[in-house]
Amino acid sequence: MRTRFAPSPTGPLHLGHAYSVILAHDMARAAGGEFLLRMEDTDLQRCRPEWEALIIEDLAWLGLTWDGDVLRQSDKIATYNARLETLDERGLLYPCSCTRGDIRAALSAPQEGVAHPVYPGICRSRTLASRLPGDALRLDLGKALSVLARQDLTFTETGPTHCGRQVVDPELALATIGDVVLSRKGEDIVAYFLASAFDDADQGITHVIRGEDLFEFTPIQVILQHLFDLPTPVYHHHRLIRDENGKRLAKRDDARAIRKYREDGATPADIRNMVGLS
Ligand code: GLU
Repeated sequence: MRTRFAPSPTGPLHLGHAYSVILAHDMARAAGGEFLLRMEDTDLQRCRPEWEALIIEDLAWLGLTWDGDVLRQSDKIATYNARLETLDERGLLYPCSCTRGDIRAALSAPQEGVAHPVYPGICRSRTLASRLPGDALRLDLGKALSVLARQDLTFTETGPTHCGRQVVDPELALATIGDVVLSRKGEDIVAYFLASAFDDADQGITHVIRGEDLFEFTPIQVILQHLFDLPTPVYHHHRLIRDENGKRLAKRDDARAIRKYREDGATPADIRNMVGLS
């Protein structure tokens, strides 16, 4: 078993991260496996070396150890882009200049049962040759699904909420995911769920252990894994740590930052207790 913790260094780790990282670490160690650390730092505006240093300090304080060097996604941006462009040779990418406002205006009615607006395909007929500086790149999901028509788009989930074999339904994917952005507007930086899918494969991750909020991205990651011929790991989406009002913790919840507890004299065992992992 090889697991990983993949934080984005955009703020301090809080109790929700503590739960995630201890779980991934302990599951790997209990199985005699490996545990890796990866900084998902492609958001160059928001990621800071100080946050990365604090993450490493917090993890060491928690008594966690990782195997090998820390992987930084910011070192791999050129490689991600080169890999992404191979999808163009298969006619699966198109440039897109739409703003959020353009997309909202084109969606005549609110889309029911969909968490994020599904892109209505305004730029779908454009070729990559018409890409202007600043355009995003989108996946033509309909075409991608027809390329993958004979493949088994499934994944194994072992987390508490969705446990069991999950089947990616192409119709549902079209209705709820649509033509996702794979390279962000103006930045030439691949989307998090693509970079993460590449790295899980490159790092030989067998079990992705992460918060339940990321369950909804898994179908698109499975589709991308098949497009790039990458293996699909087992997924374990765990419960989220919530505050007393039932709201899940966010980076700005500094009051629950691990650093704060450390400064207040808590021990690593206290943190394990607080998240129910003693
Ligand atoms: N970088 C993501 C986050 O901090 C985690 C992605 C993942 O674990 O797959 O939320």
